[in-house]
Amino acid sequence: GNGCAAPGPALLFAKTSRAGEQGRRFYACSACRDRKDCSFFQWEDEKVSETRLAAREEYNRNHQPSFTHRQNVERLKNFVVLPLSQRKFCQDCQQLLLPAEWQDHSGHHFQCDISTAQLKTPSQLLNPLENKKTNAQYLFADRSCQFLLDLIIALGFRRVLSVGTPRLHEMIQSKASQDQDFGVRSLLLDIDFRYSQFYTEDEFCHYNMFNHHFFGGEAAHETCRQFLHQDKGERVILVTDPPFGGLVEALASGFKKLIAMWRETGKEGDNNQEMPVFWIFPYFFEARILEFFPSFSMMDYQVDYDNHALYKHGKTGRRQSPVRIFTNITPRMIVLPVEEGYRFCTICQRYVSSGNQHCEICNSCTSKDGRRWKHCALCNKCVKPSWFHCDKCNCCALQDHSCERTEAGCFVCGKAGHKRSACPSLSLP
Ligand code: SAH
Ligand code: ZN
Ligand code: ZN
Ligand code: ZN
Ligand code: ZN
Repeated sequence: GNGCAAPGPALLFAKTSRAGEQGRRFYACSACRDRKDCSFFQWEDEKVSETRLAAREEYNRNHQPSFTHRQNVERLKNFVVLPLSQRKFCQDCQQLLLPAEWQDHSGHHFQCDISTAQLKTPSQLLNPLENKKTNAQYLFADRSCQFLLDLIIALGFRRVLSVGTPRLHEMIQSKASQDQDFGVRSLLLDIDFRYSQFYTEDEFCHYNMFNHHFFGGEAAHETCRQFLHQDKGERVILVTDPPFGGLVEALASGFKKLIAMWRETGKEGDNNQEMPVFWIFPYFFEARILEFFPSFSMMDYQVDYDNHALYKHGKTGRRQSPVRIFTNITPRMIVLPVEEGYRFCTICQRYVSSGNQHCEICNSCTSKDGRRWKHCALCNKCVKPSWFHCDKCNCCALQDHSCERTEAGCFVCGKAGHKRSACPSLSLP
C-alpha cells in the first residue's frame, strides 16, 4: 500500500483466536503488518493463482522507488553545485529535483532555495511518515537528541549504529562535517528510502529491522559489517527507536542478528561480551524486552519527541513521555540531568525521576512513569497512584475497570482482562 516503502521478504504471523488454540498462520509484508496498509496478505496454506502472482509482481514494480541509492547519490552531487535559486524540493514527491525534472512536477508544491544546512537536516525537510502502526515517525525533540549524543560521547563511544534514528544520525553527521575534531561517526539503517537522497552508501543503508533485511544486498551488508568491525569492534553502540506497533519478538530477533554480526569480529576469548545497546521504547514493554534481553535495564529518562500523540501533561506542567531507554550498560553509568529533575538513588545505584521514591519493601525505586507509586501489600508490589486493589480481579486496577475477563492476553502488557485498546499501561493518569 501507500505506506510501504518497498516491502521486505514476507514474515509469518499467527492469528490467535481462542486462548491456547494455535490460530491459522499467514504471511504479511514484514514492514506492514497491518493489512490496511499493505495489500500483501496470504494464508500460510493458501494456494496463490498465477494471476494474483502476476498482479503482485506488477504492484511491486510500480511501487519501486524511482531512483536507486546510487542514482540518488549522483543526483545529490549535481544538486549541491546548483545555485540556490535552482535548488528545489518537491513536497508532493518528497524528492530533490534537478532543473530538467521541474516540468514533470508542474502543479506540485515546491520548497525552494534549499540550503546546504537544509540538506544536512533531512528529517526537517521530509514529512514525517504518519502511517499509524507501522511506519509512524516520531522525531526526537532537540533536547532529547542532544542528551543522547552527549551520553554516547561521555560513555566513550566513537561509532553509532543508528537503527531507525534518522535525527540522531543527522545530528552526528552535521557535527562531524562542521568540526574536524568531532570523532563520532554514524551509520543509519532505516526503512525510509527517502534518506538515500541525502546520504552515501557508507552513511545510509535501506534496511528492514523486522527481518534484518538489507535492500542493498551483499554490498550494504558488508558496509554494515565493516562499520561494526572498525577499531576491532570497540567503542561502537547500537541505538534504535523502532515504531511502537512493531512486535517486540521480531524486533529483538533482528537486533540479535545485528549483534551477532558485530560479534563476528572474531575477538578470541571475548565471546561472552555483549554489544552495547540503547533500545528506546515505551516503559510498558519492559517485561517483553527483558524476556528477550535479560541483561537490559530500563532507565527513568523520559525521551521527548517533536510530534508524539502519546504525550500527556503531567502535574508539573512538563510533558510526560512514556518512552524510555533500555540498555545493557551498567545503570549507574547512565547519568541523567539533575536540572531536569533526576536524582541518584544510592541503594539502586541508578539515576531515577525525582518523583520516584525508593520503596523499602520492594527495595527498589519502583515508579515506571515518574510519579510516586504506592505499595500494595496484597499484590506485594508497588502500583500506580491511581490504582486500587480489586478483590474480584485479585490485583490492582483503575477504580472503574471492568472485571470481566477476555481470554486472550493484552497485546501490550500481556495480562488478561482487557484488550490492547483498553490497556491501563497506555494511559498515564
Ligand atoms: N526518534 C527517531 C525516529 C524514530 S521513528 C529519530 O528522531 O531519529 C521510527 C523510525 O524507524 C523511522 O525513522 C522509521 O522510518 C523507521 N522504521 C520504521 N519501520 C522500520 C523497519 N521495518 N525497518 C527499519 N526502520 C524502520
Ligand atoms: Zn532506589
Ligand atoms: Zn513497593
Ligand atoms: Zn493490589
Ligand atoms: Zn494491558
